Amino acid sequence: MSSLYFDSAATTPPSFSSINAYNEALKYFENPSSAYDNAKKVKVLLEEARLRCASSLSLSKEEAHHLFFTSCATESNSIVLQSVIRNYKTGRVIITNGEHPSVKNNSFILKRCGFEVISLPSKNGFVNPLDLEKALTPNTVLVSIIYVNNVIGTKNDISSLASLVKNYAKSISKNITFHTDCVQAIGKTEFSLNEFTTSGVNAATFSSHKFYAPRGCGILYSNSDNIRALSEGGGQENGRRGGTENVAAIYAASIALEEEQKLIKNHIKTISLLKDEFLKKISTLPFITVLTPKENSVPSIISISLKKMPGEITVRSLSKSGISIGTTSACSANAKKNEKNILQDMGFSPSNAESAIRISFSPLNTIEDVNTLALELEKFYNTYK
Ligand code: PLP
Repeated sequence: MSSLYFDSAATTPPSFSSINAYNEALKYFENPSSAYDNAKKVKVLLEEARLRCASSLSLSKEEAHHLFFTSCATESNSIVLQSVIRNYKTGRVIITNGEHPSVKNNSFILKRCGFEVISLPSKNGFVNPLDLEKALTPNTVLVSIIYVNNVIGTKNDISSLASLVKNYAKSISKNITFHTDCVQAIGKTEFSLNEFTTSGVNAATFSSHKFYAPRGCGILYSNSDNIRALSEGGGQENGRRGGTENVAAIYAASIALEEEQKLIKNHIKTISLLKDEFLKKISTLPFITVLTPKENSVPSIISISLKKMPGEITVRSLSKSGISIGTTSACSANAKKNEKNILQDMGFSPSNAESAIRISFSPLNTIEDVNTLALELEKFYNTYK
């Protein structure tokens, strides 16, 4: 049985060059914090990777020290959210109903610690600037708004939202940290971190395994002293993340990031063709509702709902035909309740939320793959409806 993979929002296969880079870097096994010459070579690799990541994200050489390597985006998001506990005794934290569990669940910790947490509506995946404006108060300390939604692929207008917060903070002469989770952006949409930071973004998070690198490297951008270490240790990563750096994963991530940013225009073209073809094919299937809005969404993710068919059944049945798709998000598959709530929280009906599946394309898919997927969906539905 051939196997077709349509779950690149959950994870991506590492590219050849990132695997080669990983294997090469593994040879430099010494601890980058040690003092002898061989260890210094590892430190050089690490700093080379940091510079490459900075330039790939459109940051200057001088800004490279704002990048901190972690183990994954969940850790990076936890650092950002839990920094609030380390910096303040009270205050308001603003998130949205469209956040990934790694932000949402950290906000529950903040709530338990006595912070006031406001979750803005995210109707169809979009945050309304007026809602943000109304929620800002002089005691607001952190705003965290996801860029590309991992469940339905919508893109928030981060530059406008961040500048709104920046202007408000300036008007009251206070610091408000603005964070955005950019995990689903790299390799899926043209991306310039510089554009975000000039608008007022203070912190942004990324994950290697979402952009064709091996797992094990999260990237945290922070230009704010308010972002503090979650794991205190030997002072690695400029004191922002204790623990010996996973240099092989970091080095491979830097290679994959550079590669993806160079290829992004071509990748978008390929993925858009796949999405258009899929939408054309399913437009003749009356039992399918498309949940992902046409405008302001990435071409890589499309969320659909099959009338009265629980998403989990669709995913399991297609898997038997060798097709891998997601229900909504691989990370929330461990917390089934949350999974449905996120779609309902974003304004979708309980029945659409229950029967949603997430299809995510990569440039490795072909038009034939997409046609097979549409055919198999039709066959499955007609058999089990
Ligand atoms: N944020 C978003 C938007 C995601 O999609 C994911 C993973 O699916 C994460 C954070 C967590 O990433 P990681 O697997 O690197 O912890």
